[in-house]
Amino acid sequence: PDLSPREDRDPVVRVENLAKGFRRRDGSTVPAIDGVSFDVGPGDFLVLLGPSGCGKTTLLRSIAGLETPDGGAISFSGRPQFSAASQTNVPPERRGVSMVFQSYALWPHMTAFRNVSYPLESRRSGKRSKSEIASRVRETLDLVGVGELEQQYVAQMSGGQQQRVALARALVSNDALVLFDEPLSNVDAKVREQLRIELLSLQRELGFAAIFVTHDQAEAMQLGSRIAVLQEGRLAQLASPLEIYTRPANRYVAQFIGTMNENLGTVTAIKGETAEVETGIGSLTGHLNAESVAVGDRVAAMWRPESGTMTNSDPVAANRLRGTVKASMFVGSYTEQVVDVAGQDVRVQVPGANVLSPGDDVWVEISEVDVLVMPAEDT
Ligand code: ATP
Repeated sequence: PDLSPREDRDPVVRVENLAKGFRRRDGSTVPAIDGVSFDVGPGDFLVLLGPSGCGKTTLLRSIAGLETPDGGAISFSGRPQFSAASQTNVPPERRGVSMVFQSYALWPHMTAFRNVSYPLESRRSGKRSKSEIASRVRETLDLVGVGELEQQYVAQMSGGQQQRVALARALVSNDALVLFDEPLSNVDAKVREQLRIELLSLQRELGFAAIFVTHDQAEAMQLGSRIAVLQEGRLAQLASPLEIYTRPANRYVAQFIGTMNENLGTVTAIKGETAEVETGIGSLTGHLNAESVAVGDRVAAMWRPESGTMTNSDPVAANRLRGTVKASMFVGSYTEQVVDVAGQDVRVQVPGANVLSPGDDVWVEISEVDVLVMPAEDT
């Protein structure tokens, strides 16, 4: 297959203003995706992340050609695949993309070898000899670590082995784009972890662009070079894992990724990009992420448990909260503290073992740069 973009400036995938609705029985329409645009560059690993029903699968299936959108456009390396305006709709088998499904979608009563050789034999473009195909299939099965199982029937394999065969089937054609629909959710935690690491190194080695659907935020952080967080069919944020984690675009993203303390309150002062918020547990000063916020507005002051530090003497930081330890749990690499501050629980994670007794009086300190102030109605 032709892996090179037609022109250097063309991304591997361009999605423009894509929309797709499903009709309900009562005649109304559910907008599954609603005006989504993004590019995927060569070697990108884009994760589509969001809760059940936010439109991830519909978006992925539209890119594959398995779903016909109502509006917008999709192109691969500058070549139109779908366009509502020009009524272009290239069928899935001619888009030159491979897909890995949650359910593996293998033929259980065929061998691993047959499952993987099939896409090469069935592609019209691939006029390869039998021996060329066989060596390519073996090479790919070896690559994903199941070379020795090539003559085994898929029905007799473990979930992890089956998913490796499914991965080999997707990689064997050497397409520039591989789509993944929650491929690791049916394998156990240890195997999943291992497959993630292997998938990333395979992707770097082979250089394909990946679009990967998951509802697991930890998986998204591990795999994604960029993460697209979907909120009811729209893009809430598309950025690197670091940016999504440290600068979530709104409360929805902040609540979905990792853990956040969230203290609702009213803005009492604004200085540049810094806002002071009177919350139910005291005054918190933090970084304002929206221009539209004014003094008197309802906002959420949000901060991560690992941004808090604990002392038993009065600290000098701008943000300090006086509270009482409710629970203190050593969980290995850190200790999780639950502190009652004016009747509300706040969570603080401190590195290592630092177990305190329930009832201990403490100060919790959070530096201003670690507090994000966001409009309260953003979810
Ligand atoms: P999940 O993780 O549960 O698969 P998702 O984020 O992938 O969720 P989609 O499967 O894309 O979400 O669904 C988006 C919306 O479109 C949902 O409201 C869903 O009920 C609706 N939907 C999806 N497929 C269909 C269909 N074939 N017919 C009707 N409605 C559909």
